[in-house]
Amino acid sequence: MGLLQRFARPEYRLGREGEGEPVAVPAQSSVQEGGDGVSSASSFAPDVHAGQQHQQQPSQPSEPATTGAKVIAFANQKGGVAKTTTTLNLAVAFAEAGHRVLAVDLDPQGNLTMSQGIDPDSVEKSMYDVLVNNVPIRDVVRKREIDVACASIDLAGAEIAMSTKIGRERSLEKALKAVLDDYDFVCIDTPPSLGLLTINALTAADKVIVPVQCEYLSMRGLIQLQNTLSMIREELNPDVEIEGILPTLVDTRTVHAKEAIEILEENFGERVFATRIRKTIRFAEAPVKGTSVLKYDPEGSAAESYRELAKEVLENGR
Ligand code: ADP
Ligand code: MG
Repeated sequence: MGLLQRFARPEYRLGREGEGEPVAVPAQSSVQEGGDGVSSASSFAPDVHAGQQHQQQPSQPSEPATTGAKVIAFANQKGGVAKTTTTLNLAVAFAEAGHRVLAVDLDPQGNLTMSQGIDPDSVEKSMYDVLVNNVPIRDVVRKREIDVACASIDLAGAEIAMSTKIGRERSLEKALKAVLDDYDFVCIDTPPSLGLLTINALTAADKVIVPVQCEYLSMRGLIQLQNTLSMIREELNPDVEIEGILPTLVDTRTVHAKEAIEILEENFGERVFATRIRKTIRFAEAPVKGTSVLKYDPEGSAAESYRELAKEVLENGR
């Protein structure tokens, strides 16, 4: 029996109840085999038994979990829309509110890693090793304002290195299982593309936050992102939802920004957050100091806007 056929056998499928021991290779391969991926859908939900210490084996599925971290991916294939800024500052705002937070840097540029004062070139093991070599994610976490699973420049090669791996879309989901019970929130920063790294983030996520720079052109990309999300839902993660669309870099003085927000609201209604992130130089200054804006200028309106966003997400329910 061929390798792929073997993985298609029922005992290799996740998402079923009452199956015995953990298996060496879970059913991720089913995605390549024509739609079985849906049966493994609930596997992204934290396993209630999985979180003790260093759960290395793929955990068996359980009922949709009520415990474990809420996993949020920050995605928009356009660069410069404040994905990294939002991932970091919202993560720190959650931490300020008393939550345990892991931020995962899935962008080979390593901006999130840098913005916590860590040099991606000095990082020995990074998310590359987690995704490609199955290194436990705990091994690449550094403790700063929040815990950061670091990126390094190697990560640029991860998509190619993962491309022949069975279950390549689920590498991050699998890695995160071991730490879901250690955190309340996992915030994943993604690169400006809809490639395999972003697909890994969307597959591992419960929710997606989409930062959008308020100008017409950047909003067109939202349709493309929605199409990708539909595909992810069909094949890999049926429950992933948009938590909200966040207007960023808002210049309140311009009519253009106001109109852009109106268009967003006409098209996406309540999914647009009430919080708006205004343009201010503080956001460029803080990363230079290796800190969030909440630490850099705690009383400022920039910090306050991310606290507001945290409140909005928390009120949306866990
Ligand atoms: P992305 O991760 O989507 O590429 P970044 O978070 O790196 O975007 O932001 C792009 C640039 O814009 C960075 O230089 C960042 O400091 C700056 N920036 C982000 N948010 C704001 C803001 N609200 N006001 C002004 N500059 C911002
Ligand atoms: Mg970025």
